[in-house]
Amino acid sequence: MLEQILLHHKQFSLKLREEPLKIRLEYLSDLEKMVMDHTEDIVQALRLDFAKPEAEALLTEIYPVLHEIRYVKKNLKKWIKPQRVSAPLGLMGTKNYILPVPRGVCLIIGPWNYPFQLMIAPLIAALAAGNCAFLKPSEFTPHTSALLKVLIKKTFSEDHVTVIEGGVEMTQNLLELPFDHIFFTGSTQVGKVVMAAASKHLSSITLELGGKSPTVIDSTADLEQAAEKITWAKFVNAGQTCVAPDYLLIHKDVFSEFRSHLIKKIETFYGKSDHQKKNSPDLARIISVKHTERLAQLLKEAVKQNAEITYGGDIDIPHRYVAPTLIEKVDMHSALMKEEIFGPLLPMIPFHEISEVLHFINDRPKPLALYIYSHSEMNIEALTKGTASGGVCINDSVIHVGNVHLPFGGIGESGLGNYHGYFGFRAFSHEKSVLRQYWLGRLLRVIYPPYTAFKINLIKKLIRWHL
Ligand code: NAD
Repeated sequence: MLEQILLHHKQFSLKLREEPLKIRLEYLSDLEKMVMDHTEDIVQALRLDFAKPEAEALLTEIYPVLHEIRYVKKNLKKWIKPQRVSAPLGLMGTKNYILPVPRGVCLIIGPWNYPFQLMIAPLIAALAAGNCAFLKPSEFTPHTSALLKVLIKKTFSEDHVTVIEGGVEMTQNLLELPFDHIFFTGSTQVGKVVMAAASKHLSSITLELGGKSPTVIDSTADLEQAAEKITWAKFVNAGQTCVAPDYLLIHKDVFSEFRSHLIKKIETFYGKSDHQKKNSPDLARIISVKHTERLAQLLKEAVKQNAEITYGGDIDIPHRYVAPTLIEKVDMHSALMKEEIFGPLLPMIPFHEISEVLHFINDRPKPLALYIYSHSEMNIEALTKGTASGGVCINDSVIHVGNVHLPFGGIGESGLGNYHGYFGFRAFSHEKSVLRQYWLGRLLRVIYPPYTAFKINLIKKLIRWHL
């Protein structure tokens, strides 16, 4: 059955290649209308899936996709134009250009943490570039996934965009098929499975993965502001954000002062007592009981290895609640410091010198994001240039993802390729090289056999004269 759908998509994708800009823009407008008309339903589905607060649903799931669609619609005419390039002297008289063409039929696999945005944002890029798409949402957000299926079916023809629901087994079945491009958002571990599967058909891939994003607070930072920004970035979506600050590296001289600011901000945002925090409408739940158990286990093991909980620590597994929690004296070999935390647990580690921080980060897998809170140009430059990460955000956290002019993606274990804005259009396009020959091309006959001494001499001159 999947093969049959793919066959229809392949046929439809050939038609798409010939469609003018106007039609592509209409597809994007249809998608925009779908989101606008059903914003309430989407917010409701996200609430049912994991009590995502309405403000967070609007800000992190609805707004980014509408912003992206509108930006892409404004710029697509420019992006799809063939881009003229010059020719070397040896190819004098030829016309050369780069033609962005659709990849064909794309498979978009999504995670559960931003289950709407992370299906629709890649779809925008896929449609803008003229592709057909299979969407495979996460099985952990059944309400959002079911709604997505209904809305997409209403908006697009079946052979253009199709939602396939299901779990791991279904994803594995999809990965058996010869897609032209696979766009995967999820964990590093499953990213490796996707890459191996893509190699069977040599499908091109984009991997948007996760990891542990370090956050550095040096002694020159504005501590109160840093605390406010980090509190939001860490606890939005209950810490279940791929670019959430995973752990803090804090200069020893400001450590305790920064801790006080952090606690103050947590209490301003979510309430002072355990009861207030647990009942705060502004704190999302953990996606499932299983995921809550994993976080409880991470914390328990860390404490067993002598870590200290200096704030929070309240966990209610059946209600999938984990309190904003600060942890100190963590063992660097504990799972808490090895696995991506992906929840509201925040380890805090003191440092003496910025060189220690550089070593610490460079000793570990390349993260998706690095956050630097500092007013020292030297420290900012040392960290920005001296480490590798998908992106860097200075004196703020997470918000760099919201700039459509910046590519969003990881490096090494945090991902391969990138998207958003023009970069998304490129991810879903093949850049076809086109060379058109004219009458001057007859001169090229000098390079054809028989290779006389005169011709060899001519080639040697070409090399010697840097032509
Ligand atoms: P996941 O890797 O477990 O699942 C993602 C998708 O892969 C789901 O649709 C799932 O059905 C499928 N899948 C799971 N196991 C599979 C297997 N063995 N074989 C084939 N398919 C499989 O990720 P998740 O738990 O849904 O999401 C959390 C992860 O995603 C975190 O690591 C987070 O950092 C990352 N993430 C990255 C970004 C980004 O843009 N870079 C954004 C959001 C989340």
